[in-house]
Amino acid sequence: MLVKTYCAAVNGLDATIITVEVNKSRGVMFHLTGLPDNAVRESRDRIAAALENNGYRFPVAEITINMAPADIRKEGSGYDLPIAIAILACEQKVDSERLGDYIIIGELGLDGRLQPIKGALPIAIMARAEKYKGLIVPKANIREAAVVNNINVYGMENISEVIRFLNGDHAEPEIIDTRKLFFEQQSDYEFDFADVKGQQNVKRAMEVAAAGGHNMIMIGPPGSGKSMLAKRLPSILPPLSLSESLETTQIHSVAGKLNRETSLISQRPFRSPHHTISQVALVGGGSNPQPGEISLAHNGVLFCDELPEFNRSVLEVMRQPLEDRKITISRAKYTIEYPCSFMFVASMNPCPCGYYGDPTHTCVCSPGQIQRYMSKISGPLLDRIDIQCEIQPVAFNDLAKMEPGEPSSAIRERVIAARKIQEERYRAFKGIHCNAQMTERMLHDFAQPDAKSLEMLRMAMERLKLSARAYGRILKVARTIADLAASPEVQLPHIAEAVGYRNLDRGDWAERGL
Ligand SMILES: [Zn+2]
Repeated sequence: MLVKTYCAAVNGLDATIITVEVNKSRGVMFHLTGLPDNAVRESRDRIAAALENNGYRFPVAEITINMAPADIRKEGSGYDLPIAIAILACEQKVDSERLGDYIIIGELGLDGRLQPIKGALPIAIMARAEKYKGLIVPKANIREAAVVNNINVYGMENISEVIRFLNGDHAEPEIIDTRKLFFEQQSDYEFDFADVKGQQNVKRAMEVAAAGGHNMIMIGPPGSGKSMLAKRLPSILPPLSLSESLETTQIHSVAGKLNRETSLISQRPFRSPHHTISQVALVGGGSNPQPGEISLAHNGVLFCDELPEFNRSVLEVMRQPLEDRKITISRAKYTIEYPCSFMFVASMNPCPCGYYGDPTHTCVCSPGQIQRYMSKISGPLLDRIDIQCEIQPVAFNDLAKMEPGEPSSAIRERVIAARKIQEERYRAFKGIHCNAQMTERMLHDFAQPDAKSLEMLRMAMERLKLSARAYGRILKVARTIADLAASPEVQLPHIAEAVGYRNLDRGDWAERGL
């Protein structure tokens, strides 16, 4: 007897239907064909235990299981449930009539409990597109799968519940009003700029970075609050749109990183990988390909604290995706693509001991040590960072006297207004939404300052010994500052402020190895 069930494989961010065919004939063998990985091969033992512990017997027969199409790799243990159900249908313990209506997926515990799987959201999207009547998933995955409207999603506790349902027991599908939920969850961020006293110049630099989508690096001694400030950056970015939220949620679903209580990610992600991170963990890939940190930060912020501590080769692989806003992972057997459009924020000490140029501490580093430290971050990576900003710790005595900071919501209003101007300006340019994305050519059309400002820029570049690469960056950032001031032209004060965000290009820094 031949029985079919339907499940799915996730490749990249998309799911494909997989048909599980089970045939039972005389004999005692168990065959599994159709490019399964080891976890799938081991499913026989989990299925046998789960069936036995729920009052069913694993058949004494020759069981052949084929998973089609054969050229798609099947990974992980999510196929336990569709295989087990097909075997039970062969044994006439499950009504095979309704099997064609559902996508069934889940890992089996030895006691028959359903364990969560990765990628429930893309699977639900596929099931709806392919017009299945319903989707059966482990209960733990239900909230992320039910984000997709117009398909019935059933979250099941264990295999017995699935059997009863397929044999005709009624079950209520989970229904989530996605839009309502999305807007409900878009409440305030945990970290707010209102908590930050002082640091006006860095806060302003972050506002400019957020307004123009500029990458940014903060340079300052230990304890100056670099990561504390970075954490607050998502709170001043424009709110996520529903479609951005779905994209980001899909990536987190595939990576198995969604909080089980939330179904949609409604705030911009903030990812802060440790400097010991591997190349695969940062950009994605691996033998069972997974999105990396740069994709988990999609539509949000990736923060690299202590940038020079990162392995240089790890940072190098980030260059291309920073430019392309997507990462393509090619292996002998597959090519997949993950989106990764994020704001890159980094921090570093001014020298290995951290106190170079600090008025209250003495730097103990030799010029050679400092040069080696600075040369760890490559020029090409630095080339993709528009805003470089020095930061000093706020003295304790000053803190007590200061007023609380401006709340993030107020800063965000200005950022949103500046972004609106940019959306309008770049409407005719595909893939360009903010000033940071401007090409050289566009700089000439949109960010050209008047003659007086241009002369001032020339003088500043000479006096500060700014490198040539600084020129384009300054114009881009000046454009953003002008947009924040709702000024159609780039004027002198905008240029002057932008010049101030090139700390690392200044002659005194450049001599130190950059
Ligand atoms: Zn030092």
